[in-house]
Amino acid sequence: MLMTITIHRGTDQIGGCVTEYEHDGWRLFVDYGEVLPGNSKTRELKVEGLTHGDLSKSALLITHYHGDHIGNITMLPDVLPIYMGEVAREIQLVLSDHLKTVIPAHQKMAKLLQNVQTFKAGKDFTFGPFIITPVTVDHSAFDAYAFRIETDGVSAYHTGDFRLHGFRSGKFFKMLEQYIGKVDYVVCEATNILRPNVTSKKESTLQRDFVALFKEKKSTVVYLSSTNIDRLFSLYHAALKAGRPFYVDGYQKRIMDVVVNSNSIWTKSPLYQYEKYEPEPLMYHRPANNRFFVSDSFKEFLDKKGYVLIARSNERFDNLLEQIPGEKQKVLSMWDGYVKEGTEAYNENLANSLKGEYDYMHTSGHIDMKDLREFFRLLQPKAIIPIHTDSPEQFAKLFRDEWPVIRLNDGQSISFTSISETDSCGAKK
Ligand SMILES: [Zn+2]
Ligand SMILES: [Zn+2]
Repeated sequence: MLMTITIHRGTDQIGGCVTEYEHDGWRLFVDYGEVLPGNSKTRELKVEGLTHGDLSKSALLITHYHGDHIGNITMLPDVLPIYMGEVAREIQLVLSDHLKTVIPAHQKMAKLLQNVQTFKAGKDFTFGPFIITPVTVDHSAFDAYAFRIETDGVSAYHTGDFRLHGFRSGKFFKMLEQYIGKVDYVVCEATNILRPNVTSKKESTLQRDFVALFKEKKSTVVYLSSTNIDRLFSLYHAALKAGRPFYVDGYQKRIMDVVVNSNSIWTKSPLYQYEKYEPEPLMYHRPANNRFFVSDSFKEFLDKKGYVLIARSNERFDNLLEQIPGEKQKVLSMWDGYVKEGTEAYNENLANSLKGEYDYMHTSGHIDMKDLREFFRLLQPKAIIPIHTDSPEQFAKLFRDEWPVIRLNDGQSISFTSISETDSCGAKK
């Protein structure tokens, strides 16, 4: 009896990963997202038991709501059972509802999400012969998961995207020790292998830097991803600590409300609770004219108190910034690859909104290699399979002193048995 792991996509690129765990004809897939801009492998995937064929023994698990993990699920047959985190599903619903008028696929996504089944952190569930343990992880998406997948005595740990320098990382090792222990194989994200310098800062240190900035500068405008929940809440509390009113738009406020009102294991933490002053949603014109409403009293208030404004790079915000008072300090609080001209990820709107004059205050949503080694030492795998990386060869070089690193190409499989210590396994195409 075997567990066969196939990486259908993502062996040598960041994003768009699709992984299959198979046993006795049962197939458990993990993630089905979009290929990130700049990657050449945009061909449509054809996978037996997922995109076509007999789906009666197939299911799909979603690690988190980032587009490179969930973005393409609307292209899959309707009969496929899909599982994701409860709060992640709520956030994706708000996101799809917000985007559906501009991106038609989100109309379909919003409908599809109604039928998506949800799981909870640490609560095992089964699918066919698989026992699945969802493990809550810290990432720049909220309610993100890793999965321990076991069948017939073989266990694998699928990391999803994660890190150990966030607000929620503190108890992670303890939790792994207690609930996961050793596993046979780790299918691991390796995003930061070629970016050794991006991750050194803890999210809590970054928050302290923000408090200092907000105290020093009266008016700050921060650009970040609206679904980077931890950063959003971090900035909210930092603003209040500095005595500045905190403004978001209606969409961002809805996302924050979902988190505050959810019953996730995390939301008991003060980080995800509102203080005396809730985040203030910006007012829209009625009837809507694609502009924010800026009254004289609003301007006066901002002038007096200063502000922290969470902005997005669009005309509506650009217009707002022209109307409101204050010498604005702009901050980029997301990956700066978006504003590097000449790259595929380049976001012209964002670059234009920033106008080249900004502070860069960010820390990665992905684990650094030092933390990753500690993580492997805890799980003690027999082998590691890297995914979600642009340099699997560097990854193998770095870790093969302690663990065998299995490098697969997209579409390749490897099989494991419960009796074998080393490889029972030959990679097969
Ligand atoms: Zn990702
Ligand atoms: Zn992610």
